[in-house]
Amino acid sequence: MTQPIAILGMGQLGWMLSRAGERIGASVQLLDPDAPEQPGPNTLISVESEHWPDNPGTRQLRAHPGWQNPNALDILPNRIQQKTVLDELQLPTAPWCRPKDDDQAKDLHQTLGPDFLLKRARGGYDGRGQLRVKESEATALPNWKTEAIAESAIGFDTEVSLVGARGRDGRCVFYPLTENYHRQGVLTVSLSQPTRFSALQRTAETMLTKLMDHLDYVGLMAMECFLVGDKLLINEIAPRVHNSGHWTQEGATICQFELHLRALLGWPMPQPETRGTTAMVNLLGMEHQREWLAVTGARLYWYNKAHRPGRKMGHINLQHPEPQRIADWLRELPLPADYDESRAWALERLSFEG
Ligand code: ATP
Ligand code: MG
Repeated sequence: MTQPIAILGMGQLGWMLSRAGERIGASVQLLDPDAPEQPGPNTLISVESEHWPDNPGTRQLRAHPGWQNPNALDILPNRIQQKTVLDELQLPTAPWCRPKDDDQAKDLHQTLGPDFLLKRARGGYDGRGQLRVKESEATALPNWKTEAIAESAIGFDTEVSLVGARGRDGRCVFYPLTENYHRQGVLTVSLSQPTRFSALQRTAETMLTKLMDHLDYVGLMAMECFLVGDKLLINEIAPRVHNSGHWTQEGATICQFELHLRALLGWPMPQPETRGTTAMVNLLGMEHQREWLAVTGARLYWYNKAHRPGRKMGHINLQHPEPQRIADWLRELPLPADYDESRAWALERLSFEG
């Protein structure tokens, strides 16, 4: 019998994991983080997010024999611990420090330069829990500074992420580096272009493998990086399926959700093959629009969540062997005006490729 999998979390990542599981015959149950049901002793327990509420139910899950990746889930959700382990492994990140009680902005500017970010150690996502501090603006630091890291702002050329999985036997497979565009700290568009970052692929894989090996990790992990010249600096690590891997649903023979389940179950994990170029557009804070479906190539994933401004409501994947078709579809796609920059960013890259 197939070993059941339980996923802590009932958001879109859990939903897409369970959908992928259904297709390949894996049993996936989603657990409500506010009051999780306790799965049977034979169940493997994984998460859709590295942040969950602390309550008796989640504490009990953490002690369950099937709880996966205790090392990674103890260390990585806390930015202080995550940065520390990356430093120990000599994996390059943005310069950082821990603000002390009596540190003023000017003290941190001395160490980190004229522009730095204060990031809460725990719980931030989609750019929340972050404060940008510029020397020119004389900012007073908030009282949560001692529960945060301070990190130099990086003048990056672009942002890329590596998504890959490690199996029970320690073997790793990866997707090609994905290029990501963020608007105010939130991902709007990802692009996977076959050869764009091939020169960096091996280096990126070596970096993420080193971390996954160190944590004895099983499953899918994402490494977000700043690219500065030809150097990769790790921004952050996510021990789970990742928004910048959604394009694999159309762009790869095995999508990230399926790959995570295969890794957990010890099922075959061949190197996924990719299908040329794929673009992914996040639908942030939008109401459902049937007009999206008028675009032939638009593969819509709608999360059926209550509407909130800025919230991730769904995404659209665009995949075609010819990048110019993707560009045409992207131009046709009805998107609000605040997507103009994100769209232009992607169109420029697609035209360069075509
Ligand atoms: P998410 O969970 O959505 O990835 P997050 O809240 O964990 O986001 P980060 O990944 O730390 O936040 O930052 C979000 C974005 O803000 C980055 O992708 C990048 O565009 C920008 N950013 C973060 N840190 C820096 C930095 N040190 N220098 C320049 N830009 C940064
Ligand atoms: Mg991030």
